[in-house]
Amino acid sequence: MTVDLHLHSVYSDGSDTPEDIVAQAHAAGLTGIALTDHDILDGLPAAAAAARQRGIRFIGGTELSVAWGTEAMHMLVYFLEPGPGVLQDRLVGLRDSRAHRNDEIVSRLCALGLDITMDEVRREAGTGVVGRPHFAGVLIEKGYVETVPEAFDRFLAAGRPGYVPRMRLTAAEAITLSRDCGAVPVIAHPHTLNLNAREFATGFRELVSLGLGGIEAYYGEYTPEMRTHIAQICDDLHIVATGGSDYHGKYKPHLRIGSGKGDLRVPDDVVDQLEAARQPIPPAPEQ
Ligand code: AMP
Ligand code: FE
Ligand code: FE
Ligand code: ZN
Repeated sequence: MTVDLHLHSVYSDGSDTPEDIVAQAHAAGLTGIALTDHDILDGLPAAAAAARQRGIRFIGGTELSVAWGTEAMHMLVYFLEPGPGVLQDRLVGLRDSRAHRNDEIVSRLCALGLDITMDEVRREAGTGVVGRPHFAGVLIEKGYVETVPEAFDRFLAAGRPGYVPRMRLTAAEAITLSRDCGAVPVIAHPHTLNLNAREFATGFRELVSLGLGGIEAYYGEYTPEMRTHIAQICDDLHIVATGGSDYHGKYKPHLRIGSGKGDLRVPDDVVDQLEAARQPIPPAPEQ
């Protein structure tokens, strides 16, 4: 029995509604899912209700982009409830900073000679948070690029001429705020971090001492060896090896809910382990 704990809906940069996502999870035979839209919790009630109807275990969450030293890290936060709260309140500021950033991206793309307006990007995004994949969608529609990765490679990725940074929490802030809300912070797809194996181990140990609850080991883009390696690191640190597809609908068309690129299997006991990780964790033994 398998689960998928990394999914994006129309409330951020996915293209499917929460209800569609739950229906696909059901069709894929999943027993549990987590919705993890970027910086927003508005899709959680609909997803939770649909999951309840289908008998699928549901975890509400979000995905944050945080700063870890000079690295940009993504952090999944599980069991975060919509409504007031210390982290929930910070999400408002993060969404505001996106709005400024998005205007700046439009200016930069226009300065490059592209014809694009914020209205078009907002229309592409529909509900919820506007993210770079929506800019990519407009660039595709207008024939400037053919694919989302091409839009990032040419314009939107860090270091490219349309890139504008936005406000980030630090990794330590995100972990502390998550724990203060009774939520469990987990490092998403750690392969995007520029670290060697030793830096991984020492850096992660420090984050565990702050309350990190897990690392995403079973990720679609990983080889089986990477998954086993990260799961082993989690085991050594006494934290949870989580996993998910990072499904985004049409913005990442090569990914399927549950199976990712085809070979993803996230064991369902990860959900029980995450539940258990909501309790404060004793620090990992020094080595
Ligand atoms: P934003 O949250 O607006 O900064 O956009 C980040 C999102 O863009 C990520 O969550 C991914 O969905 C997507 N993304 C980032 N880098 C790439 C890339 N190189 N190719 C395709 N999609 C990407
Ligand atoms: Fe995304
Ligand atoms: Fe991510
Ligand atoms: Zn994601």
